[in-house]
Amino acid sequence: MDIARFTSGSTPTELVFLEDSYSTKFEATVLKSFREKHRAYICLDKTLFHPRMGGQPNDEGFIEYMNGSIHVTKAFINNGVVVHIGSILYGDIPREGVTVYGKIDWIKRYKIMRRHTAGHLLDYCISRILDRSIRTIDLWMGDPCYTVYDTRISLEDIARIEYEASKIIESDRNVYFTYIDHYELQQRYPDAPNLYRLPMGLNRYRIVVIDGCNSIPCTGTHVRRLSEIGCIKIDRIEYTTEGYSKLYYDVYP
Ligand SMILES: [Zn+2]
Repeated sequence: MDIARFTSGSTPTELVFLEDSYSTKFEATVLKSFREKHRAYICLDKTLFHPRMGGQPNDEGFIEYMNGSIHVTKAFINNGVVVHIGSILYGDIPREGVTVYGKIDWIKRYKIMRRHTAGHLLDYCISRILDRSIRTIDLWMGDPCYTVYDTRISLEDIARIEYEASKIIESDRNVYFTYIDHYELQQRYPDAPNLYRLPMGLNRYRIVVIDGCNSIPCTGTHVRRLSEIGCIKIDRIEYTTEGYSKLYYDVYP
């Protein structure tokens, strides 16, 4: 399957999850579809399926339509177009122009939203405990969930970081987002831990703010209040040869 060819000429998918991370159902129109035995490739005008990007695993779920249903197991983005891939449960694939009904797996998504917000809070707590700005080198919110930082974090630091995070979660701050341009981004958030990894020259950047903590450019899905995270536990730490620290963490319960 030549994905670049499949998506070429399609208008970028409207990413509905950017405005509303809590919706699980949506209605959309098929822009392109392709069948390969029992596998379906679908592009829609809009979607709630977060594609695999920015360290966030793709959402899973179902796309249903008159006389057919697809179990979506993969979603990724190519040139702004989200491709939903899944197995056909029954019927044929929906043709261009057909209305479909999407439903995402909320249990998987909500866990990712909690882990993702926890990751932002950890960034903040680590820079506070170490008393310097830090950079995130890599991150993954699937299993196992981890973030790699460009610095050495000791086991002693870990205990202090977890304690700091628990105190802030207890204060149950709001998490919200705002949009700014690249100039404002550099002026207002020069210490954002992922600043150097962002694409340059975009018209606008989505900034995710934890009230009173940090503001990070991000297109992922987050919870609205810190109390939804529950408890953050750093389960394991690995040190790389470059001097980085890979923190495996999760949210509980
Ligand atoms: Zn984020």
